[in-house]
Amino acid sequence: MDALLKWFAASARNLPWRQTLDPYAIWVSEIMLQQTQVKTVIPYWNRWMKEFPDVVTLARGAEAEVLKLWEGLGYYSRARNLQKAARLIVDDHGGRFPESVEGLLGLPGIGPYTAGAIASIAFNQPEPILDGNIIRVLTRVYALPGDPKERRLNGRLWDLARTWVTAASTLPLQPIPHLVTSGNCSALNQALMELGATHCTPKSPNCDGCPIRSDCRAARDGTVESFPETAARPTTVHLRRVAVILRHGETFLVRKRPVGAVNAGFWEFPECDIPAPAENAIGAASTWTGIAPESFETLGVLIHSITRYRIRLEGVQATVKPKRVPRSLRLENPAGESDWLPLRQLADLPFTAAHRRLVRRLESGG
Ligand code: SF4
Repeated sequence: MDALLKWFAASARNLPWRQTLDPYAIWVSEIMLQQTQVKTVIPYWNRWMKEFPDVVTLARGAEAEVLKLWEGLGYYSRARNLQKAARLIVDDHGGRFPESVEGLLGLPGIGPYTAGAIASIAFNQPEPILDGNIIRVLTRVYALPGDPKERRLNGRLWDLARTWVTAASTLPLQPIPHLVTSGNCSALNQALMELGATHCTPKSPNCDGCPIRSDCRAARDGTVESFPETAARPTTVHLRRVAVILRHGETFLVRKRPVGAVNAGFWEFPECDIPAPAENAIGAASTWTGIAPESFETLGVLIHSITRYRIRLEGVQATVKPKRVPRSLRLENPAGESDWLPLRQLADLPFTAAHRRLVRRLESGG
């Protein structure tokens, strides 16, 4: 434990959210870091904190601005929940962040991991956290077989994580000269995550440089890569879709995804499935829009993934008269919005990553 804290004090990465004890800033970083790598998050976090430096500015921000700042990070419900929670903090907590795990768990988008992270990192409370990195470290240190998502083993891991952070809270304060830290609970939780990210990696872990090697059963037994056991991955589902880019003069038809839909609030070119395996993108676009196939040309193919879906999205474009575009293409529901907008205006709207790539292709001349 002591060795782990000392190692962290000497080698912790200097990340921008480690230069503050502001629970708001730490919360934003923790939400961004879910499913996303540190190096990707840094510029997003910096831009976000410049635009929304505190919970009040976020609560008052326009949804489009919030989504625009999140554009490209994916899992967009995270951004919407941040704003919902900010509004609750302002309305129900007088703008003050709850300090207890129970209070934090009452906010949208905050589960046990995030609540533990905020309570320990911002407020130095002996609250555990358990993420993929910590699961890897603990299952190896204790050589724990089984699926870590299964209830009994998962409960055991939470208990162990609590034991570690509680023990750290009883040790003399370990200073960390290059970081702003609230104390040993903060340092211990971050040290476990950091160890998992930098040394105790899924493949070829650096056990020789590990500060807790002498305590690690899997390293002693030579069974490191047997832990953690992983459940079978869900099967990948392959989808084919077509994005229909309709141009009229200098403008393009775009629509806003309706409330309740996946990626609600983001803008996109109208998009539909290519239902039959034998059908091509232009054929599907023509059937859907009623526009003759010879009016279309291909803009390019993008491959992207959302959870277990691997999507092949083909962009096709045609020049049309707006009046001839079917209403069903413009509005998916009565509350949806659509518009004919010039390219320069699309730069200011939030687009999902795949559709932003189509916008860039149009900007570069197709
Ligand atoms: S000794 Fe190796 S397996 Fe054990 S915690 Fe350290 S890096 Fe992980």
